[in-house]
Amino acid sequence: MIVGQQKPLAEIKAEVVPFSKLLILGCGTCVKTCFAGGEDEVATLASSLRLAFKKDGRQIKIEELTVERQCEDEFIKEAAAAIARNDAVLSLACGAGVQMVANRYAKSPVLPGVNTTFIGILEKQGLFTEKCLGCGDCVLDVFAGICPVSRCSKKLMNGPCGGSHGGKCEVNPDTDCAWQLIIDRSKDFGQLDRLSTYVPPKDWRTSNAGGPRKLVREDHII
Ligand code: SF4
Ligand code: SF4
Repeated sequence: MIVGQQKPLAEIKAEVVPFSKLLILGCGTCVKTCFAGGEDEVATLASSLRLAFKKDGRQIKIEELTVERQCEDEFIKEAAAAIARNDAVLSLACGAGVQMVANRYAKSPVLPGVNTTFIGILEKQGLFTEKCLGCGDCVLDVFAGICPVSRCSKKLMNGPCGGSHGGKCEVNPDTDCAWQLIIDRSKDFGQLDRLSTYVPPKDWRTSNAGGPRKLVREDHII
């Protein structure tokens, strides 16, 4: 899922200060799962903003709405009336959702309330970790299911770098060395020999380094 974190209240307040009628628009999928922008977070943020503006002696009307996914046109259609009633939208979706809403409702200012951070997983309660950079050419088969692109600090395709200590990365000792994990898992599968094959440099043109990407599914085009 896409993992993000709600922006600090002071930053959000500064974004919305020019508007007197605000729609806080939540997203019921990824950002809900990571507690950044679902229905509950919309309600909490709306209360905090109302209180913060009240303290300043300023009136702001805040409407709350959460759609299932802001990155799909089908769902953001439901927000049309609420968007029309307000001066601006504070979107608590990921960056894709914010832009989808801005694209459809071109006349409404659409502001981000979340810092979109990475593609990752809920590792344990309260801990989300990055697992994929969306490189466009998945190599998990070569590396026993551990991604060196997103999980090795140096993105080594032919690791390890030699700096790992006690199974931890030399760049950040709080992080497992991806290459230690790759080696351990390859051993478990009896596939350690696969790691002695040189892996050529990654072709980054399939990643965002090659510019904005598109995925076309001809079979779905109508
Ligand atoms: S190899 Fe690329 S697509 Fe596969 S998990 Fe890593 S970053 Fe994601
Ligand atoms: S210590 Fe491990 S994870 Fe860290 S940079 Fe070196 S090989 Fe990559």
